[in-house]
Amino acid sequence: MNSESSSYEGGCTCRYVRYRMTSIPLFVHCCHCRWCQRETGASFALNALIEADHVQLLAGEVDRIDTPSNSGKGQVISRCPRCRIAVWSNYAGGGDAVRFVRVGSLDEPDRLPPDIHIFTESRQPWVILPPHTPAVPQYYNASEYWPRESLERRAALAASR
Ligand SMILES: [Zn+2]
Ligand SMILES: [Zn+2]
Repeated sequence: MNSESSSYEGGCTCRYVRYRMTSIPLFVHCCHCRWCQRETGASFALNALIEADHVQLLAGEVDRIDTPSNSGKGQVISRCPRCRIAVWSNYAGGGDAVRFVRVGSLDEPDRLPPDIHIFTESRQPWVILPPHTPAVPQYYNASEYWPRESLERRAALAASR
């Protein structure tokens, strides 16, 4: 892959915040939990999980907003300080090392379809899931679903902390 095809750029709506993912993500979640439905105002959230140091801020800065989460442990949502659009979150589990980049904030969101559908027990009934993408009622073990390269990247991340 050349740098063009392996980099993914995105940003907020007012274009103050611009960022680049410097690699493909570890995994892409389509989350159908009620919390994501409320936060997006829609039916699900689409998040690309990626090492924080694989996300470069190209322009602007983000406000980190402490926000309640489904787990009760909280999340930090990074938002543009001007238009308040969210570009990524950090959850208690992955800490600061793993960012959940909002796929819809990428310039080319079509490049990152879901690798798994999670919390499908609260999926809105009109949303039809594709038959060949894994789907689980709640959460899952990465070791069962992530590709080997992503598990190796996760292990490297854990070792460096
Ligand atoms: Zn903005
Ligand atoms: Zn969710």
